[in-house]
Amino acid sequence: MSSTTTLQKRNRGFADTFAAGELPIIPKLRTVILTCADARVDPAHIFELDLGDAVVIRNTGGRVTQAVIEEVATLAFMVSMLDGGESNPFELVLMQHTQCGAERFANPDFQQALKKQTGVDVSSVAITNNEMNLREDVERLRNAPEIPGAIIVSGLVYDVKNGTVRQVIAPAPLAP
Ligand SMILES: [Zn+2]
Repeated sequence: MSSTTTLQKRNRGFADTFAAGELPIIPKLRTVILTCADARVDPAHIFELDLGDAVVIRNTGGRVTQAVIEEVATLAFMVSMLDGGESNPFELVLMQHTQCGAERFANPDFQQALKKQTGVDVSSVAITNNEMNLREDVERLRNAPEIPGAIIVSGLVYDVKNGTVRQVIAPAPLAP
């Protein structure tokens, strides 16, 4: 059986009790979460999110890339269009996790093999030390002219072994 069949079956259960058809487009928590694509690290579960609570962006490692910068800049622009130019469009939560597959990106042999076979360069998005990598990512955001300085950014690490989240970087505006 295709997994699509499984997913469609589960969706029928979801749609049976669906009552969220009138949600506003701006998320209730005014929060964007960037995290890893790892199936064990789903913010909807970790933070008990309801539909409409938060925007979630995911990539391998949950690192800030140029693509993420463009997503965040676009979302900030859209929010400011929708609510008439609030100076702080949303909070941005960066969340990395333990046992991340992107730790392999730090291995030069892995980097080289991937680049040779696919052309993809992951050298700037490896996970080597969560605290250090989160600080690097805040710097990447701070140095990106596309990102409004009023955005409040924090850094968390999720532990896949026990489900807890630890704050590494306290929430603060990018440009105080
Ligand atoms: Zn990961």
